[in-house]
Amino acid sequence: MSILQIHRELAARYDGGASLLSYTNAFELLIAVVLSAQTTDAQVNKITPALFSRYPDSHALAGARQEEVEGLIHSTGFYRSKARNIIGASKVLVEDFGGRVPQTMEELVRIPGVGRKSAGVVLHHIFDKPAIIVDTHFGRVVRRLGLTAHEDPKRVEQDIAAQLDRAYWSEFSMTANLHGRALCHARKPRCSECFLLPWCAYGASVQGVS
Ligand code: SF4
Repeated sequence: MSILQIHRELAARYDGGASLLSYTNAFELLIAVVLSAQTTDAQVNKITPALFSRYPDSHALAGARQEEVEGLIHSTGFYRSKARNIIGASKVLVEDFGGRVPQTMEELVRIPGVGRKSAGVVLHHIFDKPAIIVDTHFGRVVRRLGLTAHEDPKRVEQDIAAQLDRAYWSEFSMTANLHGRALCHARKPRCSECFLLPWCAYGASVQGVS
C-alpha cells in the first residue's frame, strides 16, 4: 500500500484539523507547544489560562520573573527549564522579531525550546503552511507501517517528505498522530482493531499473521 493510500485511510477515520492544545493566537500556541514537552496537552491546557492572563504577550512574558513563571507552570514538569525557555523565547520574539511569531522553520527553530516539531505545529495551525510534525506518536506509527526505518526525527521527516506530496503533509501528520494515540499505542498496539493491519508488517508480526 502506498503512503497516499495510507493517508486516505487515516483521513477517512480521523478529523486531523484541530490542535489538542488550547490557544487564541500564535504567541499562545508557541508557548503551549514548548510547555507540552514531556507532558500531556490536557495538562498544559489546565495551566495556560492563568499563565496567559498574567502574561498576555511576548513583551509581558519577556519581562517576567523566573520564580513566578515556575509557580504558574509547575504542574507541567521540568518547570525550571520550561520557565527559562518560555521567558527566553519571549525575549527572542521581542528582540529579533518585533514581538511577533515568525513564519518560517528556519526562524522558529532559533527560538529557545522550539524544535522542528514545535515549529511545524505553529506553521500548520497558525500560518497554514505544510509541515511534517514528527513527535513520538507520529514516529512510532510511520516506523511500524514501514514508511521509515529512522528514529531521528529529521530523518523521519525527510523520508515522509520524499514519499508524500507536500499538500498532504500537515493532515497526514495530524491523523497519524491521532492514530498513535487511539490505536497504535507504544506498549500495546490494538492491531486486531486496526484498519491498517492488512498493510502493516509490524501489526502482522504481533498478531501472528503470516
Ligand atoms: S496494525 Fe498495529 S502496529 Fe500497525 S498501524 Fe495498526 S495498530 Fe499500529
